[in-house]
Amino acid sequence: MARDRSEVPTGEEVKAFLDAKGVSSDCNACSRKGSLSVSVNDPDGQLKGKAPAIRLIRRLHDLPHLGYGEFLQVCKNCGFIRYFRDIEVLDFLEADGDNE
Ligand SMILES: [Zn+2]
Repeated sequence: MARDRSEVPTGEEVKAFLDAKGVSSDCNACSRKGSLSVSVNDPDGQLKGKAPAIRLIRRLHDLPHLGYGEFLQVCKNCGFIRYFRDIEVLDFLEADGDNE
């Protein structure tokens, strides 16, 4: 069954996308191995990988109906942040669902 695009992906799902694309979790800034992790909304720390990924929405200043979303990875060591556009992640997860 195809995934519903309106569902918020979990941290695990965003990580699966990054793994499939060959994106490592080594930090670009401080070079620490495996220190980047997908930001999730898990205030109690209970959901772990099943927690919904944080998705930031960027809006154009003069055209607020236009914009795009981003998922992010943050370095646990130095706080470096990098972003991935949501369209590619959502397309990947939908296609993945079709193969099941
Ligand atoms: Zn770092």
